[in-house]
Amino acid sequence: MMNKNEKTLVEKAQEQGIHLNGYYEGDHRTRCPNCSPHRKKKNDPCLSVTVTNESILWMCHHCDWTGGVKEGSYNNKFSIRLPNQSQECLHQYP
Ligand SMILES: [Zn+2]
Repeated sequence: MMNKNEKTLVEKAQEQGIHLNGYYEGDHRTRCPNCSPHRKKKNDPCLSVTVTNESILWMCHHCDWTGGVKEGSYNNKFSIRLPNQSQECLHQYP
């Protein structure tokens, strides 16, 4: 169950500048808060966001910025030290 005192995944992602039209599970594309404001193509959705029921992960195809937030973790950012198995999962795009 979700702890009411804890921020939701969506809130954590929004703190990082990740704004989606809908945070349903699956792959999304949106603008990158890291590089889009500085680009000519400000509206180019260069950020790839993957939403699951326990995490939101993102990767920018333009500036290579990656990040993510995870359910149940008080760190609003978990660095990229995923176990090997998880890294393989990340590449299993449909
Ligand atoms: Zn970027």
